[in-house]
Order: sequence, then structure tokens, then C-alpha cells
Amino acid sequence: MPGSEFSEIPREANHFCGCDCPFDQSRLVLFGAPYDASASFRPGARFGPSAMRRDSWGLETYSPLLDKDLEDACVSDLGDLELPQGPASKVLDQVQAMAGAIIRSGKIPVMIGGDHSLTLGAVRAALEAYPQLHIVHLDAHTDLREDYLGHAYSHASVIRRCHDLVGDGRIHAYGIRSGLKAEFDFARQHLDFHPFSLEALADLASTLKDQPVYITLDLDILDPSILPGTGTPEPGGIGFHELLSALALTAPLRVVGADLMELSPPLDPSGASTAVACKILREWLLLMAFPS
Ligand code: MN
Ligand code: MN
Repeated sequence: MPGSEFSEIPREANHFCGCDCPFDQSRLVLFGAPYDASASFRPGARFGPSAMRRDSWGLETYSPLLDKDLEDACVSDLGDLELPQGPASKVLDQVQAMAGAIIRSGKIPVMIGGDHSLTLGAVRAALEAYPQLHIVHLDAHTDLREDYLGHAYSHASVIRRCHDLVGDGRIHAYGIRSGLKAEFDFARQHLDFHPFSLEALADLASTLKDQPVYITLDLDILDPSILPGTGTPEPGGIGFHELLSALALTAPLRVVGADLMELSPPLDPSGASTAVACKILREWLLLMAFPS
């Protein structure tokens, strides 16, 4: 540890807005996964975590909407994994190792992506600890392809790979408005599937009761007019407050892991998409830290 002289020199810390709680005292633990080699269309999500940390300094820790402050939520931020932009299998192992270590410490991992393929690594870790795991999937896309151009671990296949692990009825998907007909058929048969809207989320608490839940948020669920900075924008999406309401409905569930994926900062040079992602994450962390 540097001497006390250093503590008096202000430095810009490298953590998400207000999330500098010591690991041992925290319940929610952030880590970044800067990887986008499985993106099917436009890359750039590898820059999501670093852009969110940097731009989160333009965000207050206090949420007037929730009347809660991240300084009181005791969230820690472990920084980014060092990931090769190469084949998915090793990357998924690294994500699984990190999420697993956080879970085994009795805490809740919250991953900042990165493309959506990485969710599989964190879900594997959560399943190890919670075999009865349910998954809440918020996305514009089905992500149910058996493979994408022969790539079984593409972000377009991530929910299919999750289904391989958890089976029927344990994936609850909302807001989906794009996919192959075969994927929609598969979803209707094997998932708890609610395309086009978030309305049915309100019923989830009574369905799941206290069963363990992993929540995966693909930011392209938002309309591209709100968040254009994402690799596969899909018109006809939900609005900012609609997403916040959805997150408020899921926060009281027994959340054991979560992620926020697919922000691609280079695709929105205005920075507004990153600001949206940062504010969504602040409100979501507060909702999970102080479920009411
Ligand atoms: Mn998507
Ligand atoms: Mn997705």
C-alpha cells in the first residue's frame, strides 16, 4: 500500500460510478467482459465496459427516481477480464471462472458486456451453484439459432445453448421481435415466451417465487432511437422507462446473477447510447441492492 501521502492526492479511480465498495463487504459485484468476436454483424461491444466506466463519471450516484444512492448500495467493481478476441470456448471458461468465484464468495455477479455470447459462461457458473436456475431473457432477438454459420457459440445462439443446459420452461423471454420463424416456433414450444412486450413480466414473481434467477439484458431490446449504439439494432423496441419498469419487476426475484450486454460505443459517436446504458445500470443496481 502506498503511504498516506498518496491518499491526499486526488486520482480518477477506475470503477463504475459509485461502485468502489470493498469486495468483502459487497453483495453485488461488477466485472467487465470486453469481447465481441462472436458478433454476427457489427463489432464494437468489446469497448462497452471501458466506455461505461469512463462515461459513468458524468452520472450522479444518486437516483432521484428511486431516491437511492449507489454510494449506499455497496457494490464493488473488479474491472475487466483480459480476453482474447478469438474462439469462444476459452473466453467462456474465463467468464465462468470469474462469475463462479464471485458466486462461491456468496455474492451476485453482474457482468458488463461484451457481446451476448458471454452470457453462457456466467449461466454455467450460476447453474453449478443453483441447479434449479431460471433465466429471464430481455432482448430484441430470439438468440435461438442452433448455430450461426457453423458457430455454435455465436451471440445468435446463446439462448439455445442455455436451453441445452436448463431445458424446457426455465427460460422466460420478453420483448423479442426478431428471429427466424423456426426460432419463434422453438421459443413457443420450449420457452416461457412473451414476444413484443414486457406485460407478462408482472406475473413472473408468482411463477418463480423464491427460485434462483439469472437475468440477462441485451440492450438492443431498447428501440434504436434510444440506443443506436449496438451491433444489431432492431426497430420497434421498448422505451427507457418501460425497461426500467421491467427491471423493477424482476429485482425482487431471487436474483443470483445478471448481465448487461451488447453496448457498442463506437457505433454511437455521440455517446448518448453509453449514457443510456450507464443510467440503466445505475438504476438496476439500485433496484437489486434495495428491492422493495
Ligand atoms: Mn439482441
Ligand atoms: Mn441477444
